[in-house]
Amino acid sequence: MDCHKIIEDTYAHILSKENKGAVATYIPELGKVDPAHFGVCLTTNDGTQYTAGDAYSPFSIQSIAKVLSLSLALSLEDTMIWQRLDVEPSGSAFNSLVQLESENGIPRNPLINAGAIVVCDILCSHLKDPKKELIGYIRDVANNDTIQYSETIAQSEKSNGYLNVALVNFMKSFGNIKNDVEQVIDLYFYLSSIEMTCCQLSKTFGFLANGGKQLITNKQILTRSQSQRVNAIMQTCGFYDEAGEFAYKVGLPGKSGVGGGIVAVLPNSYSISVWSPKLNEKGNSYRGMKFLQLFTDTTRETIF
Ligand code: GLU
Repeated sequence: MDCHKIIEDTYAHILSKENKGAVATYIPELGKVDPAHFGVCLTTNDGTQYTAGDAYSPFSIQSIAKVLSLSLALSLEDTMIWQRLDVEPSGSAFNSLVQLESENGIPRNPLINAGAIVVCDILCSHLKDPKKELIGYIRDVANNDTIQYSETIAQSEKSNGYLNVALVNFMKSFGNIKNDVEQVIDLYFYLSSIEMTCCQLSKTFGFLANGGKQLITNKQILTRSQSQRVNAIMQTCGFYDEAGEFAYKVGLPGKSGVGGGIVAVLPNSYSISVWSPKLNEKGNSYRGMKFLQLFTDTTRETIF
């Protein structure tokens, strides 16, 4: 596969088409991002990177970070975490309250907001300094000590985070949040604020294309079995109520974020990250989805 040419040609084609959608504004800081940004980076399992456009510009990865907090929780509790949340697609929006009431405060999966908040609660139960240790873990997985929270974005989301505050309190009322709700939701807002470039993001997710082992160093981040299950959850739940369409059109396990990022992996081959801030009506990057669909159509390589 001539990665360089396919990335370049796919990028040029998508760039030539209308960029539909809108930048997220419910987190005010995200509303300030230039909607014209468009970057791509593919990292093969030998660590080689192929880029196009804004591949080196940092952006808020938002819900993509939920995959990393889930990985840490699995490292700490393994399958015990599934007593607190499920592994089922929700079929609803990422911040929906609807199913929580009928399902006794047990979130459908760890990639919707309610599930990620329970994962943050699990981390608060295990870690002495959750905020410090979580970013330390993510820097370790990324093999990059410069990865940071964005104080500005975390505070911006916190200033308008009424729905997530409702979610954490609602689950607390069902007894599915064990720690102080302020501490748990604060960790969640900082987790969401983490910034990475496309190159950093695709390299960081390389362990999920590599049997749970960090690229190059082969450091075991997750067991092979755990990494396979995280990929399964990304495949079925990574795009909320557009997860089916992503599986149908792209055919890779992946995760989106309202900052306009998408990361996807082809196990035993590569991880790829795309960033374009304008979101479609389901809250996933419009250009990111279009790029990945054309990319896997061209390479004809999917998990199916
Ligand atoms: N922090 C965002 C929220 O809670 C994440 C949503 C997303 O990226 O899908 O609404």
